[in-house]
Amino acid sequence: MPTDATTVPRSRAPRRWPDEPAQGGWYTDAETAAAQKMLDESRSWRTGWRNKDLVAAFEEAFAQATRARHAIAFNGGGTALEMVLRCLEMQPGDQVVSCALNFVGTHLPVIHQGGDLVLAEPDPLTLNLDPADVEHRLTDRTRAIVVTHWNGLAADLRPFLDLAERHPHPHHGPPVVIVDAARAAGGITPAGLPVGAEGWATIFSFETKKLMTTFGQGGMVTTGDARLADRLRRLRTYGLSQEWGTNQQLSKIQAAVGLVQLGRLDEMNAARIARAHERTRLLHGIEHLTLPPELDGGRHLYYRYNLLVPASWAGAGRDALMELLADRYGLGSIINDPVTYTGHDYIRAHTDGQACPRAEALAARLLCPCLHPQIPADEEREICDAIRRATDEIARTFATT
Ligand SMILES: *Cc1c(COP(=O)(O)O)cnc(C)c1O
Repeated sequence: MPTDATTVPRSRAPRRWPDEPAQGGWYTDAETAAAQKMLDESRSWRTGWRNKDLVAAFEEAFAQATRARHAIAFNGGGTALEMVLRCLEMQPGDQVVSCALNFVGTHLPVIHQGGDLVLAEPDPLTLNLDPADVEHRLTDRTRAIVVTHWNGLAADLRPFLDLAERHPHPHHGPPVVIVDAARAAGGITPAGLPVGAEGWATIFSFETKKLMTTFGQGGMVTTGDARLADRLRRLRTYGLSQEWGTNQQLSKIQAAVGLVQLGRLDEMNAARIARAHERTRLLHGIEHLTLPPELDGGRHLYYRYNLLVPASWAGAGRDALMELLADRYGLGSIINDPVTYTGHDYIRAHTDGQACPRAEALAARLLCPCLHPQIPADEEREICDAIRRATDEIARTFATT
């Protein structure tokens, strides 16, 4: 049985390959040149860092790339999601359904904006929110379904849009579908649409670990709803003289490098997908490991390379494998992520009595060894060899199911 799903081995051994690669750390001379230009142009005391044109240009380019009508830049993905949820003006008792296997940053704003967080189970294959499980959890208080494209695998949003239509809220109509695409910029959904084109709103993050980055922090919302877009612009910029607001703007130097990164996004994603497929080929046939699903056409961007150990290794066996990989082979990996309510006291306190056993069981089997397209090809072979050897060694101490 799964032990504590949040257990993260704390090995101190130096890593040849870090636990958590910064996917967005892949900058070229083009980003440097764009940043240098902004530095030079911003030296004047008359103008300083003013000039919203670049932010508007970045938003425009992002909207085009995602085939969304509107894109609104924010200083982070978490703040962007918080403001989208704020626009729902939730009342006590209003509910928001979201997958238990998730990043805590997806759930904290739900609670802070007054929603009752309703935890739901992941699909065992994709590890994305399971529509069949969501159906059981919809009530006449449901205001939103938050779907995370988890670890780069684009979820099919159509079943959720369909469920929402069939379970309208008595006053507000169908619950909105909010998409957390912090880990899936540049992806394609099963509907054949770019991530960001479907649902009420999609949020993106440009934090340094994400697939593209604007100097380590940044975010974007895409939406087809003009009223939502206007409201978000106000909330982001002190209410634009009309209502409450705060300052969550992206700076122009971030927008300048964001434009370069957006232009390189498909190329960077293609390199990561190719590397992940190579890893899957090299790990093929290891009896004790479930490899991530291989999906065509940009449906899986492999923000993380998810491995699942057998159920009988859950918890302790998985931890032992992570430790062995780190200590003997220098290969870092993380559990990205455990179920949010075991990993965070605030979320636990606000989801009292809820549990998602399937999510917990999967989280206790999960490890994500470091994957980055800039790891040299011969090192990738060493990594796969290490995973094979370490798994064989753990198999000798743990019975398999
Ligand atoms: C990173 C991340 C966020 C938050 O984005 P920040 O820009 O770091 O605030 C939200 N959801 C998921 C799934 C993430 O990975």
